[in-house]
Amino acid sequence: MANGEFGLIDHIRATFARPAEGMVGIGDDCAIVPAGECDLLISTDMVIEGVHFLRSDAEPEAVGHKAAAVNISDIAAMGGKPVATFLSIALPKDAQGEWVERFLEGYRAISEQYGVALLGGDTTSSLRDVAINVAVVGRCGRGEALLRSGAQVGDTIYVTGPLGDSGAGLKAILEGTERTSEVEALIDRHYRPTPRVAEGVAIRTSGKAHAMMDISDGIASDLGHILRASGVGAEVDLDSLPISAEMRSVAAAKGWNASHLAASAGEDYELLVVGTSELPQLVDIPLYSIGRITAGSGIVWLEGGKKTEFNKSGYKHF
Ligand code: ADP
Ligand code: MG
Repeated sequence: MANGEFGLIDHIRATFARPAEGMVGIGDDCAIVPAGECDLLISTDMVIEGVHFLRSDAEPEAVGHKAAAVNISDIAAMGGKPVATFLSIALPKDAQGEWVERFLEGYRAISEQYGVALLGGDTTSSLRDVAINVAVVGRCGRGEALLRSGAQVGDTIYVTGPLGDSGAGLKAILEGTERTSEVEALIDRHYRPTPRVAEGVAIRTSGKAHAMMDISDGIASDLGHILRASGVGAEVDLDSLPISAEMRSVAAAKGWNASHLAASAGEDYELLVVGTSELPQLVDIPLYSIGRITAGSGIVWLEGGKKTEFNKSGYKHF
């Protein structure tokens, strides 16, 4: 079996029978199940104490927000509309009172904001850590979901918003950086990501996007998924990555390399989009061009107009 998180996923995919014609299974942001006129989009993501959040640092409401947000984001990543979630929670004794009530408040607030119903789940005890699993269901028109596999040579690569804020926020938490208002803004982006649902729908309905996913592990890793699925390569200009004013300022003060952090840090939950050069004129949302799709494989990074060996591979669980 190949090593690592993605090696294990490949092993699982190879071990099980291929899904029936019309279904899309392992390998995209959501699975696709055709249902009459529409396609059902289904995905699931876990949030584990000690891996995804520290109970000593994260507000319970923020954990609830993020658990729902990262799942809704996978529906956005296909250009779909989220419909419902299922929430499973394993709770140690000391999280069964106020902690879980506040968690549910964060989960409820974002669910309401995105018009997503909670339709079920599962509840158990846990010996020590909080473990959460969310499953999400969304939909879009039959055959209309944007997969990772449609990128074409000559396409432009876009993102929907600034990169690296969440990673910089996490770095600030881990390094105990002084909490200025700019640092607080980055930490807030880490704990309260915004799923780009309206953006995803606008991009899909433009008809000019060929591939899309959400940025959970950083573009260095996530763009690699689109390239492998599509059988193409890419050139990415590190200088063109959109960086927020807060991130630029905090990075300058702390001596962090803002564009390298933007390329390698995860959990921004912006959309990574590949499409034609007309795409930005057809959608009423910001789209930042960061590079282009080429023949070949892998990412060629450019910095100051020259090739660079920058080779951060993004977040992997193991
Ligand atoms: P994302 O970051 O979009 O949530 P992941 O990197 O977690 O995606 O997963 C990549 C793909 O592998 C997805 O299609 C997901 O459904 C699938 N996958 C991950 N873990 C498993 C597993 N244990 N069994 C089956 N499929 C899995
Ligand atoms: Mg995803």
